[in-house]
Amino acid sequence: MSEREFDVVVIGMGPGAEYLAEELAKAGVQVGAIEQRLVGGECPYWGCVPSKMMIRAANLVTEGHRISGMAGSAVISPSWAPVAKRIRDEATDNWDDTVAVDRFTGLGGTLFRGHARITGPGEVSVGDDILRARRGMVIGTGTVPAIPPIAGLAQTPYWTNHEAIETEDVPPSLLVLGGGAIGAELGQVFARFGSSVTIVEGMPRLLPLDEPESGDLVGKVFRAEGITVSTGASAESVRHDGSGFTVTLTGGRQYVADRLLVATGRKTDLAALGVGAIGLDESSRFIDVDDRMQAAPGVWALGDVVGKGAFTHMSMYHASIILGELLGRPRHPAEYHAVPRVTFTDPEVGSVGLTEAEARQRYGDRITTAITQIPTSSRGWIHKAGNAGFIKLVADSERGILVGATSAGPTGGEVLGMLTLAVHAHVPVQRLTEMIYAYPTFHRAVEDALRLL
Ligand SMILES: Cc1cc2nc3c(=O)[nH]c(=O)nc-3n(C[C@H](O)[C@H](O)[C@H](O)COP(=O)(O)OP(=O)(O)OC[C@H]3O[C@@H](n4cnc5c(N)ncnc54)[C@H](O)[C@@H]3O)c2cc1C
Repeated sequence: MSEREFDVVVIGMGPGAEYLAEELAKAGVQVGAIEQRLVGGECPYWGCVPSKMMIRAANLVTEGHRISGMAGSAVISPSWAPVAKRIRDEATDNWDDTVAVDRFTGLGGTLFRGHARITGPGEVSVGDDILRARRGMVIGTGTVPAIPPIAGLAQTPYWTNHEAIETEDVPPSLLVLGGGAIGAELGQVFARFGSSVTIVEGMPRLLPLDEPESGDLVGKVFRAEGITVSTGASAESVRHDGSGFTVTLTGGRQYVADRLLVATGRKTDLAALGVGAIGLDESSRFIDVDDRMQAAPGVWALGDVVGKGAFTHMSMYHASIILGELLGRPRHPAEYHAVPRVTFTDPEVGSVGLTEAEARQRYGDRITTAITQIPTSSRGWIHKAGNAGFIKLVADSERGILVGATSAGPTGGEVLGMLTLAVHAHVPVQRLTEMIYAYPTFHRAVEDALRLL
């Protein structure tokens, strides 16, 4: 048993915590960091980065198919091998974090491998080591897949995002439980590489956290691409007979597939982390923090574990606020009225702020909305194949500002940038209508929608 003392102890080294730990170390702060898997967390190894490489490849395949009728003809022979290789070699270094570890330790940080458990104020144990934090501890332990209690599921060799990202082969058929962002993105990728994909979503439509128009659009495109989309019924039981899965839904419908991907949400495990030792509620879903990301005296938390949106950009945002606090250069408090999120399906669905339903619940009749369709916009019409999409604006007529927006379509996540700025900075709708929109861009559809408000 050895005891070590640091200025700051960082628990979990996902994207935000890694950035924070490195910046603190650069500033001369003594940092002890603990990571039980890979430094960098879920995003670079099993999340954003490799999944977006898969999506880039899948989109290339589909763009190839779109040549027909617009630019001649092309014979497309998709192969998963270069995708798997790129993920292994370029994204994850074969799931090896040496580069990240060396960068952190090269800055003077100390890394401990293993599962951290908080044992008291300013005290964390990992293996045989006890780390003491002079100034504070930062919790960035993220989330793991939440596996629903479906009869038989636990006994089967189901996939989570880890196996889906690591796979060297495209399964002939794939059943995806969960039609949220992760299920929809990965389902479409495998379908575009030839897998026969079924997505089962218990809610009435895909992307249930987004505007209904988004789920309807993605569902329509998916069906047109040959993906079976089953909504409104949940899986009741799962069986694996040694070679394939059979999933039975409420109501009796059955689906069979070679592989089963469970993408039904994510969860924290605060009890395993021992947060009760610092007076926090271990049965809570997330760590409750104030607008300076502080959970208790000398305790800060960031990223997925605080439940303000499970996005890499959120964990980085939190990290920069905590960095300001710890370096004595406080930044603005955390604000959440303009959180951007992008589902990288094709069409890409970007959204920011409140959905119409959320806005109506909060502001009632003050809410007005407008929708324009991308195919009838100047750029959408030119783009033609693959131009499905829309812009939806949610405005508070009393304040004359946007409180939410969705941008679905080609580069929907990029068009989201200007909408995020508008919602974030409370730019008056009137001012937005006075702006010049470059012709013919996809974001000109925003101007069309503003006219309808
Ligand atoms: C398939 C997929 C695609 C995604 N795509 C996107 C995207 O396109 N854009 C986006 O913004 N977000 C995306 N995300 C979400 C993004 O990956 C997460 O929001 C981000 O990684 C959160 O960072 P974090 O630091 O909170 O947690 P994590 O990245 O989960 O990191 C937490 C780290 O803490 C470690 N840890 C946990 N408990 C302990 C302990 N007790 N002791 C020691 N170490 C511990 C874990 O091993 C882990 O490395 C995606 C996620 C998935 C699964």
